[in-house]
Formats: sequence, C-alpha cells, structure tokens
Amino acid sequence: MALIVQKYGGSSVADTDRIKAVRDRIKRTVEAGNQVVVVVSAMGKTTDGLVALAESLAATHTPTLDEIAARERETDLLLATGEQVTIALLSMALQAVGQPAIAMNGSQVRVVTEPIHTRARILYVEPEQIQAALNEGKVVVIAGFQGVAIDETTGQPSHQITTLGRGGSDTSAVAIAAAIKADICEIYTDVPGILTTDPRIVPKAQMLTEITCDEMLELASLGAKVLHPRSVEIARNFGVKMCVRSSWLDDAGTVITSTQDGNGNLAALEVNRFVEAVSIDYDQVKIALLQVPDRPGIASQLFQSLATHGINVDLIIQAVQETEGVNDIAFTIPKSQLSKAESVTRSLDMAASSVTVDADVAKISIIGVGMIGRPGVAAQMFTALADAGINIQMISTSEIKISCVIAATDGEKAIAAIQKTFDVPVQLSRVASVTPYIKDTSPIRGVALDRNRARIAVQKVPDRPGMAAKILDRLVEQNISIDMIVQSQSNCDFNEIAFTVAIADLTKAETALKEYAPVLGYGDVTCDANISKVSIVGSNMIHQPGVAARMFSALANSGINIEMIATSEIKVSCVVRDPQAEQSLKVIHQEFNLSGDREIEVPSVLKK
Ligand code: ASP
Ligand code: MG
Repeated sequence: MALIVQKYGGSSVADTDRIKAVRDRIKRTVEAGNQVVVVVSAMGKTTDGLVALAESLAATHTPTLDEIAARERETDLLLATGEQVTIALLSMALQAVGQPAIAMNGSQVRVVTEPIHTRARILYVEPEQIQAALNEGKVVVIAGFQGVAIDETTGQPSHQITTLGRGGSDTSAVAIAAAIKADICEIYTDVPGILTTDPRIVPKAQMLTEITCDEMLELASLGAKVLHPRSVEIARNFGVKMCVRSSWLDDAGTVITSTQDGNGNLAALEVNRFVEAVSIDYDQVKIALLQVPDRPGIASQLFQSLATHGINVDLIIQAVQETEGVNDIAFTIPKSQLSKAESVTRSLDMAASSVTVDADVAKISIIGVGMIGRPGVAAQMFTALADAGINIQMISTSEIKISCVIAATDGEKAIAAIQKTFDVPVQLSRVASVTPYIKDTSPIRGVALDRNRARIAVQKVPDRPGMAAKILDRLVEQNISIDMIVQSQSNCDFNEIAFTVAIADLTKAETALKEYAPVLGYGDVTCDANISKVSIVGSNMIHQPGVAARMFSALANSGINIEMIATSEIKVSCVVRDPQAEQSLKVIHQEFNLSGDREIEVPSVLKK
C-alpha cells in the first residue's frame, strides 16, 4: 500500500465529464490498495475568468499602496472560490460511486502561509486532519493554490485566505506530499510528461522518462512551463518523488528525481534559505581572448579544438562589445591542463588582439533554488564581495547558481564575506547539485528557448570593486530580475557588463541605468530586444568534455552568430538573434540526437 498524492490541473477537471474521468482514476488507485490525497485546480480557465471580472471593476485612478493592499485581500477571497468548486464536485462524484471522500479547502486543512496576499509562500501544512480522514478510508480532496495566513502576533493561523500565485496548485500538492510523507506526488496535466524541447517547434521532441530536480529547475524558468518552479524546489528540499503524467493517457510520464533525502524543515516548507551553499574552487586558470571578430564559428572553432585535446572547460563567458563589433571570450579550465590549453588556444588563428592567461584565480559560487525570482540575491553577493574590497573578474549566472572568478589571493576573504551575508555552509570545490554519472545517456536532457528576453549592455564600466553590485542594485530597486549576467574585460581599465532582462522590463531598466551613468561613471547603455536565449541543460555534461563545443558548432554550421555565452555545471546558454531562435533550437536538438521517431501530439490547449 502506498500513500499517493494526485494533483489534477485545470484542463483535467475542465467539465463534469473530465471530473468523471478523474473520479475513475482515483477509484482505480484506491482499489489497487493505495491511500489517495487529491489536490485540484479550478475548472478549466475559471481563474482567468475571475481575474477578468475583477479587472472590469478596477479603479480608474492610480491606487494608493493602501488601496492596492485592500484589493489584494479581496482578490484572494475571489480567486480561492475557483478551487472550492472543484473539490466539492469531485468529492460528490466520488461519494456517488460509493467511494467515501471528503473535500477540504486550504483553511480547513490548514495550509498555513505567510501573511501576504496573492503570492504567499507556504510555511507548513497540518497533516493531522488529512491523516484522520485517510484512516477512516476516505479520499481527501484538497483545494490547491490557497491557504490561510499566519497571524504574526499570535503565531497561530488566522482566518485570512491567501493564494500562492498563479499556477500555484502544483506547489500545494508537493507541500502536502512533503507534510504527510507521501510515497509519490503525481502531477496530472495535459501533456504526456516533460519533453526534450518545445514540440510546437520540434514536432519530434521526445518525452523524458526521468529528469533530476536540478535540471528541471534550470529548465523551468526557460519556458518549460509544465511545473510551477516552487513545487520542484519543495520536492528537491524534502526528497519528494514526483512525476508528471497526462490525465488523458495511461503512460507512465516523466519521473522527477531528487538526490536529497528530505532533511528540510517541515515547519518552514517554502521559506528555506535563498542560498544553500557557497563553494570555492582554486583549481582554476583563466584564459581570455580579447577582441576576437564577432562572426559565426569563432566559439565553435575554439572550444572544438579544446575538446579534441581533451580539455575540460568549466566556465565560459562571451560578451560582444557593441561599439567595436568584437567579442571577448574567457573561460576557465583546471590548472593541470593549462599548458596544453594555452598552446591550443595560441595555435588557432583567431585574430584576437591578445590572449591572456591568469593562473592565480579562483571561482566562488553560490547555489540555491531559492534564488529563482529573487532579483536581490546576485546583487547581495556582489555587494558582499565589493565591501570586502574584492574585484570580480568574470561573472556567470544560471537560474540557481552564480559564479564569480576572482583573484586566488582573495579566496578566503571572499568566502568569509559571503558566509556572513547569507549564513551558509561552505562546500568544497564541485557543487552539491552534481548528480552521479548515468551511463549511456545523452549528455543533455533538454533544449529550451526563451524568447521573452532582451539584452542590455553597460559599456566602459570602470574596473573596480563594487561596480557590478551597484549596477545590479539599481535594477533590484526597480524590482527587475536579471539573468545571464556576463562581465568581460575590454581592456585593463574597463569592463563591459551585459545581461538579459524580461522584455517587459526593458524600458524601465534602460531608464534606470542611463540616469545612473553620471553617478557611476560608466559609458553608454545599449539595449537590444531582438534576441533570444537558447539553452541546453543536463547533469551528465559534467562528465563529458566538448558538450558546449557541440552546441556552438551546431549553431556555426547553420551560420548562426552567438552573441553571448554563459555556462554553469549543468547548463550552457547562448544569446542569438531572435529571427534565428527557432532554427537554433532545431539544430541543437538535432545535434544531440534528441528527436524520437514519432511526433508528439500537441494538446490543442497549447497550440494557440
Ligand atoms: N487556478 C490557479 C491558476 O489558474 C492555480 C493553478 O491552476 O495552479 O493560476
Ligand atoms: Mg496549473
């Protein structure tokens, strides 16, 4: 007998026929000898409809902050009704076929959240009532997406209804699974599982049988919108086994594995540390090529040659200097490979203005799934380093990790500064998220495209400690999330710092940075909304040199120019021109032989 949490999304409960299908699946699961807790979303597009109703009644004047707060409270009351309809109907449907069941909303279970409306994080879930109902042989049907706020003065749950933010019912399901120590949390949706890429662009995308939480998190914020990233974060921290399956099919779907075995704190489900660990790696040498021509094939030629010689490149960054139409490419490798890497690099005719080698560097990284959606974390890291007088030579970010290359002599100081800021343990060298090598699998799990990005470059940034921190702080003040931050050196005295932001934030970011230029003394701020970010993700790339090179070659062979590169252990991202985005995705997917032999059926709901 297993204890199973099943979560059904809006399309799986869109009408009473679909609810009957769900009812039958639940009944079969119980009849197979399992205990079942069900978490549901609102029917179909109900939540969108409620949001639209509220909008039609919105104020015409610019609301004050108090007015916004008052409205957010009522928004939660309104939106929480959607899920309440589903739980009542589904529980009735089960009862009607002789299956004892009970429906509970978030405040009846007591899914206790922070006292924040419209985007609350879950603090804890009381397991007692769920357990009691299960012991009576009932199926427990719980409303996802909602909870009840804690009363901060008494420390007890209040009566204020909260919601978790759009798409939050996945997060409810995994939090409940963690609290009741379920054997598995099954997420039923309208796609057959997690795919290697977007089937609207690559029809022969394949379904994955398995993916790790870390890989899923890297993919999640790249448009793989199947799961709410916060649900993956909980699964990872609490060792909850998860799978994603279609509610229309009997296929096994994709299993999402977590390497941790659940030592998270159940009293603070979602409010764990933003940053879980800091690590430093002294076994690093930096090689930089300054001012190589900005044309297709350059990165490919370089990294292909390094891979052929068995050189394991770790961090790669590349940034265009717009003014001059040239690129800087910098990368790090293990110390033992320096002489080989240096001679390979110098032997290539790359037309670089200079090649520099710095053997006295270290890479310091912070890692944590809690960074997703918290723009302040990167800025805090850079500020901590700046306050300690440490200059950052290279920066590279991924969704859950930020790495900086600094002088090796600054290593200890840097660790101390970061530990003080984030109160985290130190991990030696390689990061924790590294999963064991799985033989015979592709080095990468999936390819993702993010077309919703724009690139901003801040030019001629004086090369002194604190500049990156100040620039990012400026954006954090405006609540702008940045990703793919790349800093390159244009010459000894200046850096260029480039990063990507959501297109929607571009104007705000540009204005904020331009206003700030005279204060910090940097040069022009240039923007480009016509770019896309294409990324490969996979834990196995750590064990195989040349993975990044294959990606670059695939692009080069199609004449696609790479404008920015940033890497982490399990991910490589390239910025390309937007009109070439789909082609980039296709050729990379092809290069890694990820296609299957039949086309994935794209559910009509996703086709729009
Ligand atoms: N019904 C909510 C929404 O549409 C929660 C969910 O479906 O996950 O955002
Ligand atoms: Mg959903």
